[in-house]
Amino acid sequence: MLRISEIKLPLDHAEDALRPAIVQKLEIADDDLISFSLFRRGYDARKQANILLVYSVDVVLRDEAAVLARHGGSPHVAPTPDMAYRPVANASAAPGAARPVVVGMGPCGLFAGLILAQMGFRPIILERGKAVRERTKDTWGLWRKEVLHPESNVQFGEGGAGTFSDGKLYSQIKDPRHLGRKVLEEFVRAGAPEEILYVSKPHIGTFRLVSMVEKMRASIEALGGEVRFEQRVADLDLQHGQLRGLTLASGEYLPCTHLVLAIGHSARDTFEMLHARGVFLEAKPFSIGFRIEHPQSLIDRARFGKFVRHPLLGAADYKLVHHSGNGRSVYSFCMCPGGTVVAATSEPNRVVTNGMSQYSRAERNANAGIVVGITPDDYPGGPLAGIAFQRQWESRAYELGGGGYHAPGQTVGDFIAGRPSTALGSVQPSYKPGVTPTDLSTALPDYAIEAIREALPAFDRKIRGYAMHDAVLTGVETRTSSPLRITRNNDDYQSVNTAGLFPAGEGAGYAGGIYSAAIDGIEVAEAVARDLVARQAKA
Ligand code: FAD
Repeated sequence: MLRISEIKLPLDHAEDALRPAIVQKLEIADDDLISFSLFRRGYDARKQANILLVYSVDVVLRDEAAVLARHGGSPHVAPTPDMAYRPVANASAAPGAARPVVVGMGPCGLFAGLILAQMGFRPIILERGKAVRERTKDTWGLWRKEVLHPESNVQFGEGGAGTFSDGKLYSQIKDPRHLGRKVLEEFVRAGAPEEILYVSKPHIGTFRLVSMVEKMRASIEALGGEVRFEQRVADLDLQHGQLRGLTLASGEYLPCTHLVLAIGHSARDTFEMLHARGVFLEAKPFSIGFRIEHPQSLIDRARFGKFVRHPLLGAADYKLVHHSGNGRSVYSFCMCPGGTVVAATSEPNRVVTNGMSQYSRAERNANAGIVVGITPDDYPGGPLAGIAFQRQWESRAYELGGGGYHAPGQTVGDFIAGRPSTALGSVQPSYKPGVTPTDLSTALPDYAIEAIREALPAFDRKIRGYAMHDAVLTGVETRTSSPLRITRNNDDYQSVNTAGLFPAGEGAGYAGGIYSAAIDGIEVAEAVARDLVARQAKA
């Protein structure tokens, strides 16, 4: 089979136009093409008057060798890679091995647990938050009733941080082993729409994620795994640089030699515990900023012109970058077409924004983080200094919002002009429990304010109307990625100074987003399995 890419057809092409386009591209006769299947469909909207669909297909040909020879050297004609997932080990090769423990049931922990269960290692998954249905009620409690549950919220609970999200499932990471395909296939098995296997920027939306996470939990349990909620890991038992066990917040002690630490970027108390126990951590760069909201129709028009709301295009997204005069880069982050801005704090009396959407992406506003890259030079003081920095600005946002988890907000027009907003205009912010019009100029460090002020008019030159007066900024966006790394070895995936501890996913600094966290979960689970087998072989 060969994979043919970059087959371009007009957006409204006839249903049967793909076959002749393949034949033409390969310069073959029609009956030389035995069959084909769709691998990927994206679009090219650079020329608005002529938006094109861009296909990759897998083809079976009468004479593949001849076609390959004729197109040799073309990056768009190549043998179809083998994308099947093959387990790297099996528990039958490690009889009597201790059960591995996975801490955290976000996408990383979920996939680590699933892969370990599929290899027969019967993992124990410990999650500090609640099962996803109960967690949903608690999360809505903050949005509707201003009540935060510090152990059950947007960051903590079954499904992890991505559960109340847009469910975007793509990333720019290198994936030579095609582990992303395994992730997408497992998601489809759990109820995601089949199209995530072939559209170029798949997304799931929040409602469906809830039931998918439940199905994946059921699969892990059916394979002998165990999932325990409301079980916060409070301490580790380390002896001579080797993990021996862990203690839960309840006081229960669990012996454990292999622990996948997939705790996400908001487990600040756990980071503090790791630091106190001497596990090697280091500060890393992340980004801070605001969330911006525009009418989705403005973004659709700017991107798609006359093709607005075409069923194959959906609601338009965007990606923007600006290098500011003060040396800072400002960029759009986690853009959610047709979605809502959500209250995403996990700590009392702090305000954090993020974005989510449903599968339909049909809400009135488009939202995105507009964030500024920062480095440990901006928050000197060791591995935990980034957390103190985040807390400082999240508390400031709470204060500016006037309490009750209301977010401080400002129109883009007022923000650029440097005057406080006393009212908001035609763009109604979607953040719940509410937005307080104010002055955001003291909501972040001066360099970040200056860089964002410069970036918004520059973005307006790319998307006309982007700096419209009534677009709304709400703050603050501080949980863009982990402020630290739990550094691990490249070869065995274990902490550089703590054997048996396998840092994984976003919180450990090895992923950013659902898809890459899930892939990292697979790789770490494989490392755990290999080590379990190797140790049993030595024993
Ligand atoms: P997490 O998902 O953060 O999971 C960590 C888990 O560990 C949590 O469930 C937590 O409760 C648990 N935990 C922490 N400490 C302990 C402990 N001591 N004991 C036991 N359990 C513990 N990414 C995308 O790719 N696409 C999107 O559209 C998208 N939208 C988002 C929208 C929102 C509102 C948010 C908050 C995030 C969004 N993200 C999105 C980011 C994405 O959710 C994260 O990158 C991803 O969830 C990271 O996965 P993870 O498994 O590494 O960590």
